[in-house]
Amino acid sequence: MTISRADCVALDADDPLKHLRDEFVLPEGKIYLAGNSLGAMPKAAAAATARVVEEWSGQLVGGWNASGWYGLPLTTGDRLAPLIGAGPGQVAVGDSTSIAVVKAVSAALGLRPERRVIISDLANFPTDRYMVQGLAKALGGYEIRDIGTLDDALADDVACVLLSEVDYRTGDRYDTAEVTARVQAAGALMIWDLCHSAGALQVDVSQADFAVGCTYKYLNGGPGSPAFVYVNPRHLGQAEQLLTGWYSHAEPFAFEPDHRPAEGIRRFLVSTPHVLSYAPLNAALDIWERVDLAQVRAKSVALTSLFIEVAEELCAPYGLTLVSSRDPERRGSQVSFSHPDGYPVIRALADRGVHGDFRAPDILRFGFAPLYIRFADVHDAAVSLAEVLGEELWRDERYQRRLAVT
Ligand SMILES: *Cc1c(COP(=O)(O)O)cnc(C)c1O
Repeated sequence: MTISRADCVALDADDPLKHLRDEFVLPEGKIYLAGNSLGAMPKAAAAATARVVEEWSGQLVGGWNASGWYGLPLTTGDRLAPLIGAGPGQVAVGDSTSIAVVKAVSAALGLRPERRVIISDLANFPTDRYMVQGLAKALGGYEIRDIGTLDDALADDVACVLLSEVDYRTGDRYDTAEVTARVQAAGALMIWDLCHSAGALQVDVSQADFAVGCTYKYLNGGPGSPAFVYVNPRHLGQAEQLLTGWYSHAEPFAFEPDHRPAEGIRRFLVSTPHVLSYAPLNAALDIWERVDLAQVRAKSVALTSLFIEVAEELCAPYGLTLVSSRDPERRGSQVSFSHPDGYPVIRALADRGVHGDFRAPDILRFGFAPLYIRFADVHDAAVSLAEVLGEELWRDERYQRRLAVT
């Protein structure tokens, strides 16, 4: 083989991020390649969560002031901002990505009232599409245009374009700078979904109009951790979002009968933050504060390239087809292959200790979280995949039945 396991062990020894693996709880003897679905748990998350529970029992309602619970959406937003190339006062953390999509799209539509078209692509994560469909239906008079190519779809009736930087299924990545410039040249607003970018790439939202994303994938914020919404400063104070809950009011504790929008990013909050869910996220951000994103991206490119190389070499005869781009610039931190029996293959692989996941109809998805995945893991995973395919271990009856979460 071109690259041996010993070569990989040597790469691990030279890895400038190697010390970070020890910050996470990782399953013994397993290779976790689903960090793009749910990131691993920071060791500090348990104590951080316990601390909030203690604050609750000790301070009761006083915790809103004394423990900073009230300010969490914005204090956490400021901590997250550098990870997506944003500045302070530009990011709010709360709710879920789906809700953030409604906030961003509704705000964009309000800024372009004379335009009635929303562009999305068919490959986008379904909830992004579903939320836009629901919003368009509720507002009335909007058309959703699904793009083949952006050039065909962009016209002077387009209000905004909502795309995911990295495709959750294929791992392919848009050239965000180029697309953003094209969209804005057509007079429309650009909204990026960064769910599969934040924590994996050097994201730069500074030219985008809005951005949204989750924190439970590469950012390791924990199951159901709150989402983020970014608003370009040129729109702050102007854009209005649809979900005008009391936290977006200029003075929530004035308890006025009518909504009066807050200035700044607070206008993009909805309501009471899920305080407990911010604890593990902030524990993860403690780690991110010490991480150089250029090193994260360089390692991500190296890990994904290695996996493609070794898996293709070992699995060539077994009907495995690369779906992700071969060009690392055009790829996120994930590698997808297709195989006609993708689902049982992923199950059989999990039984051998290698956790990827499956996305219908036939995609095997492997996420490489650079903070805790080693080059030797990548090599071992590719060898296991070749064994599962070569020995047809996936044919076992127990791997055929679909579980609820794939
Ligand atoms: C993971 C993901 C979501 C998840 O949305 P939730 O509201 O957190 O359930 C949305 N969009 C994309 C592109 C995703 O990858």
